[in-house]
Amino acid sequence: MDISKHDQEFIKKKNKNMVLDIIKSSRPISRAKIAKLTSMSATSVGRIVNDLCQIGLVKETEQYSSGVGRKATMLDIDAGSVLTIGVEMDKGVIKIGIVDFDGHIIAENKLTKLYHLDDPVKVARELSEYIQELIDHNEIVISKIIGIGIGVPGIIDMDKGTIVFSSQLGWENVNFAALVESHLHIPTVIDNDLKVKALGETYYGFVKGSKRAVLLGFGSGVGSALVIDGTVYRGESNIAGEIGHSTVDPNGMLCECGKRGCLQTYIADFTIIQEANKVKPITSIKEIFDSAHNNETWAVQIIDRACTYIAITVSNVVCMYNPDTIILGGHLIEQHVEMLETVKQKINQFIWGPFNGTYKLVSSKLQSNAVIIGAATLALQQRLDHEM
Ligand SMILES: [Zn+2]
Repeated sequence: MDISKHDQEFIKKKNKNMVLDIIKSSRPISRAKIAKLTSMSATSVGRIVNDLCQIGLVKETEQYSSGVGRKATMLDIDAGSVLTIGVEMDKGVIKIGIVDFDGHIIAENKLTKLYHLDDPVKVARELSEYIQELIDHNEIVISKIIGIGIGVPGIIDMDKGTIVFSSQLGWENVNFAALVESHLHIPTVIDNDLKVKALGETYYGFVKGSKRAVLLGFGSGVGSALVIDGTVYRGESNIAGEIGHSTVDPNGMLCECGKRGCLQTYIADFTIIQEANKVKPITSIKEIFDSAHNNETWAVQIIDRACTYIAITVSNVVCMYNPDTIILGGHLIEQHVEMLETVKQKINQFIWGPFNGTYKLVSSKLQSNAVIIGAATLALQQRLDHEM
C-alpha cells in the first residue's frame, strides 16, 4: 500500500468513527446536523451513514427535527442489531458474554469445570460449545454476531491470533483464535487481558471519551495498558505496558521471570502473602486485610507498603505518558476499595509539581466484567474497520 492510499484509509476510518460517535452520543440526529458538527460535506456524511445503515448498526426514524419544525429523517443506533462476544480466559475459569453495541452484556456464562487446561485444542472446542449453547439458549440470531474477542493474560500476537506465552495458562505458541474460528466460523480476535480491559473502560467506564488513559492492574501480577484516542498502544511486539518487570532494585527479591527486584515483587499478591508469612501463617490477601482492620501493626505496614509502591507506579506512569486519566484495577484494588484513598494521599509525596492536576485517578467501573466488555469492544472495532 503506498503512502497516499494509507493516508486515505486512515482518514476514512477516522471520519467513520467520528460520525458513529456523534450518532451514538447525540441520537436521534439528522444527516444535516452531523455534517454541521463534523464540517464534512453532505455527500461524505451520506456515504458513511449508508455504510452504517447497511450493516444494520444505524437505522432511520421519521421524526421532526428540533427548531425548524419540518420533517427530517433522523438517525438512531440499533444497539441490538450488532452483537459481539467477549471472552475472558484465566487460570481455571472462562467467562463468556454476549455484548450489544452499547456495551451491555445481554447474556453470560461462566465455566469453572470441564476444563482440559493442558490441551488448547480441547479448550477451544469446549469454549466453542459453550458459546454456541449461550447463543441457542438465549435465542440469538446468529447473523447478528459479527465477531468474538478473547482476552488472555500473557504475551499475545494479535495479528496472528496467537498466544505467544501465558504463564497463567501454561501455554506457548498456540494459535487459539484460529482454533475457535474453525468451530464457530465467526471472525475471532485475541489480545492481552489488560489491554482489552483498558479498551472497555475507555469506551464504557468512568473515563468514557478520555484521549489518553492508562489502566494499571494490580493482582497476581502488575501491568499497564495505554489507550490513545480509543486505540490501545501496543509497542513493537504487543508487550508495551509490562511494567511489572521493570527493575526497582537490582539487589531485590527474585522474581518469577528470573530477574531481581522487579516492580511486581513489591506489589503482586503472592509477594504480599510471602511477606505476611514472615510474621504468621497466612494464605490469602483477605486475611491480611482482616488483620489490618484489627489494627495488627505488621498487616497495616504491609498494606501501607503496597500502597506506597502503587503510588510510585502511578507517579512513574504520569511522568512517562502525561495521561489525562489513570484507572486503577486488578483484584487487589477492586476488592479493597479503601486502598484507592490511601494511594491518592501518598501520590502527593511522589508526583512532580508540573503534573499536579493534569490527570484523574479513578477506580475501574466495569470491574469483573471489564475483560468481557473490552474483548467484545475489540471484536467490534476490528469488524467495523474491516467492513467499511
Ligand atoms: Zn520480573
